[in-house]
Amino acid sequence: MKTNPLMEKIVSLCKRRGFVFPGSELYGGIAGMWDYGPLGVELRNNIRDLWWKTFVHERDDIFGLDSAILMKKEVWEATGHTKEFSDPIVEDIITKKRYRADSLLEDNGIENADGMPAEEMTEYIKKKGIKSPEGNPLSEVRTFNLMFKTTVGASGGEGSVSYLRPETAQGIFVNYKNIIDTLYPSIPFGVAQVGKAFRNEISPRDFIFRLREMEQMEIEYFIREKKWEESFEHWRKETKNFFETVGLPSDMLYEHEIPEEGRAHYSKRTIDFEFQYPFGRKELSGLAYRTDYDLGKHREFSGMALEYTDKHTGEKFTPHVIEPSFGVERLVLAVLVSAYREDEMDGESRTYLCFKPKLAPVRVAVFPLLKNKPELVKKAKEIHLALKTDIGRVWFDDNGNIGKRYRRQDEIGTPFCITVDFDTLEDNTVTVRERDSGKQKRVSVAELSPYLSEYFV
Ligand code: ATP
Repeated sequence: MKTNPLMEKIVSLCKRRGFVFPGSELYGGIAGMWDYGPLGVELRNNIRDLWWKTFVHERDDIFGLDSAILMKKEVWEATGHTKEFSDPIVEDIITKKRYRADSLLEDNGIENADGMPAEEMTEYIKKKGIKSPEGNPLSEVRTFNLMFKTTVGASGGEGSVSYLRPETAQGIFVNYKNIIDTLYPSIPFGVAQVGKAFRNEISPRDFIFRLREMEQMEIEYFIREKKWEESFEHWRKETKNFFETVGLPSDMLYEHEIPEEGRAHYSKRTIDFEFQYPFGRKELSGLAYRTDYDLGKHREFSGMALEYTDKHTGEKFTPHVIEPSFGVERLVLAVLVSAYREDEMDGESRTYLCFKPKLAPVRVAVFPLLKNKPELVKKAKEIHLALKTDIGRVWFDDNGNIGKRYRRQDEIGTPFCITVDFDTLEDNTVTVRERDSGKQKRVSVAELSPYLSEYFV
């Protein structure tokens, strides 16, 4: 994996503390697959839940959906994915190693190679004498379909072919009719889905940035055609607000307007929201105006009427679509990169993750000052249990000295640590220590839950 010092530290912390493990590690790993450990799964779920709360629960115009990963192959034929969902590939003719041609061209100083036709890329390779990273000649550029093919059922044959979905969006389009027939939503309205998507990427890399199995959070927002610019602007703002909510600094975020030749075949306008990852400025999420392409294609191929009927005027039309699309792992990585800090505290160097409290895998840690004093342990366990009920993920730790326990919690981004000491037994107060500043204050046990809960709403 091509990496850099900050990425190495983040990848190592993620492994050491149980955020992310290499997929199938026991058998040497599998490229493009990573597993979430106990802390990573909490962080991921918190981000996902916040997204769902923001875009589904807090709005009246967006409905949730969870469609199957495997769909009939006709879905992907209708949308053109079987033909066009591909990346350009080029081969080192000596080592037979394969590379994504546009990345290779860009590494060799050719700008905007993304979206360039394969023949044009081959021309560039010949004209500029571009070699593989090993210095060998390259083959012609061809296209490589990124969808994973599989078969459904025992009978085999062409009819049983299916694909692991490369995007969650199509599950929404094929359920569009079910949604309007059951909920009769007023236009504009949206359908949101979170789920796994699979792409057989030519060169998975950069930790959890480019994966073969990933998770997406997508909204298809159905509008009248004439409203597309207004709606696009709305979603552009909403996307930026969401990035702020999860704690991404605005000076690490960029908008990249994709020129026509770089856009997906269905899009009339696309903005990539890019993030300054340690390995470069790369796409974090996308916003696309998909026109009525998908519904139009499904209408054509399925023969079903997919028009929307205006409740008041009876007017029938095919809605157009604005699609904000977020990759969960790219967001998890951006949150980790933004939260990673090193400083010095009490004369010692420390590493900490300054997650927004709501996103922290562990919200509060409770310690007895000394492990071998049963009265302190008993009191700390009581507090631990009470806070767990009120606040959720609260950990108990009595291992090593207090300083070490603070460092361990800092490293996993726990916003608050509570210490039960001998004064607690006298006056029923505890020390609450704040992660980022290290500041401590005494809080009465009765006040603890309301005091802390405020940070997690
Ligand atoms: P890229 O240009 O980086 O390959 P894309 O433009 O093909 O990405 P989209 O099809 O717009 O990506 O997918 C929507 C979102 O899904 C992306 O913005 C990204 O967050 C996420 N995503 C796409 N491909 C991957 C992948 N291989 N690994 C992780 N996340 C991905």
